[in-house]
Amino acid sequence: MKIPFKFKDVHSCEALVLTCIDFRFWRESLEYIEKETGIKTFDFPSLPGSAKAINESTDEPNDLAMQCISVPCDLHHAKKIIIINHEDCGAYGGSKMFNNDREAEQKFHENELRKARDIVKNKYSDKEIILLYAKLADNKENIEFLEVE
Ligand SMILES: [Zn+2]
Repeated sequence: MKIPFKFKDVHSCEALVLTCIDFRFWRESLEYIEKETGIKTFDFPSLPGSAKAINESTDEPNDLAMQCISVPCDLHHAKKIIIINHEDCGAYGGSKMFNNDREAEQKFHENELRKARDIVKNKYSDKEIILLYAKLADNKENIEFLEVE
């Protein structure tokens, strides 16, 4: 089987989108980016817990989480960095860790995202960083993507 290679001789992308590995959320995250942001080219690494991986990263040159940032930024010249955390994230112990207090869970993830932004900003001060929280909505029928300030 052959599939057309759309990016022949293209070595730069607009953005980097970091998501959690969770199968319940990454496709929808991809759909959100493609439909809502207008960003056409982006690296799309996923790590358990997304912001969690950044927040637990080290300064070692082989740190996997930081490589997920440095390769898109340094090699692919990405200008924007989007970090997406989601509700009921198993890497954080899921919603049960918050006794199903959804507001507390959301606040926690917002803080995690802000922490990750600070870490990334330290190394890549010139990048635009967008934080998103993927929240279950409509009795878990939908996923709503909320921008975090
Ligand atoms: Zn997750």
